[in-house]
Amino acid sequence: MMSGRKRSSAPLSGSADGEFALAVLDWYDRHARSLPWRQRDGAPDPYRVWLSEIMLQQTTVAAVTRYFARFTDLWPTVHDLAAAEPTAIMREWAGLGYYARARNLHKCAQIIASEHGGVFPDEVADLIRLPGVGEYTAAAIAAIAFNKPETAVDGNVERIMARFHSIDTPLPAAKKELRALAAHYIPGQRCDRAGDYTQALMDIGATICTPKLPKCEICPLGQHCMARNSGTDPATLPRREKKSPRPRRVGYVYWVTDKAGRVLIHTRPETGLLGGMRALPTSAWESIAPDHPPWIQAALLVGTRVEVRHIFTHFELHLSGLAAPSDSISIPDLPDKSFQWVARDHILAEGLPSLFRKAAMQFLGS
Ligand code: SF4
Repeated sequence: MMSGRKRSSAPLSGSADGEFALAVLDWYDRHARSLPWRQRDGAPDPYRVWLSEIMLQQTTVAAVTRYFARFTDLWPTVHDLAAAEPTAIMREWAGLGYYARARNLHKCAQIIASEHGGVFPDEVADLIRLPGVGEYTAAAIAAIAFNKPETAVDGNVERIMARFHSIDTPLPAAKKELRALAAHYIPGQRCDRAGDYTQALMDIGATICTPKLPKCEICPLGQHCMARNSGTDPATLPRREKKSPRPRRVGYVYWVTDKAGRVLIHTRPETGLLGGMRALPTSAWESIAPDHPPWIQAALLVGTRVEVRHIFTHFELHLSGLAAPSDSISIPDLPDKSFQWVARDHILAEGLPSLFRKAAMQFLGS
């Protein structure tokens, strides 16, 4: 064992360098996770690889599994997805979060179906032009679906590289360095398993070199890992610059009911947060309590115990629930036809994003 190596951001050289990919692939052959979008025999289906990679953006494997099964049941090919109704896609996506992904998913499927004959491009430069496909996703699709030696650097890979080389520079400043290290170890010409290698690193990051309790004793990279062998606590890496706390926004969520027991919902505008999703009506979301929208008569609103908190990427939202009988709204003045009455018993089947699902459940129980 090469214990006691000095910290270095230079890649390993000589035989140890080649050992990295071999150790990773050998581990993968024995311990690869069985995932519904992963194909161990035969060529991978680029549609399933793309779909899984879009769903996995900022989302866990556990959360994605059920959605992936549902989408591939409903829309087994990219042509099926391209032909789907946007509202059906949004409804099925409900609860998975980051809803711009669902809109881009549909746009991308339509482009692949109409402009590429249903065949995904295999080069990063072409993949990255597709809606919803960024640098990481393009590299992951090229590597996994087409076995291209591309560097797909996500949080797992950054963590492994930061620990393997005991890099002290905090993220995000360390990104470039970690990326260069990750690129160095790609098997490339040395073997024909770039896709397996990419997935192997994802698996090692998810199951062995985990953020809080890395299992160094069973890690295939332990022999040359500088954090492990230099006495640095691997769990402290990668270091991160302190983030300023998320700003807080507040607003109201309305439970408007009519005498027939129906509840008012609306479809949010296409652009903006939760765009195109079915939702309970809300006020604007502001840093201080906002005004009620003009179509609601504030005097008739009734305070409730409903309180919902939701974390978005750039802010934290707190919504307070207000109940409103239907005579507290001026129906002719409803902002547009995106507002709709639904039976109270059906509200949870409307494909509400989790923020509104949480609110609806509280209203129903209150
Ligand atoms: S030895 Fe430990 S810290 Fe190093 S890569 Fe493996 S799990 Fe991560």
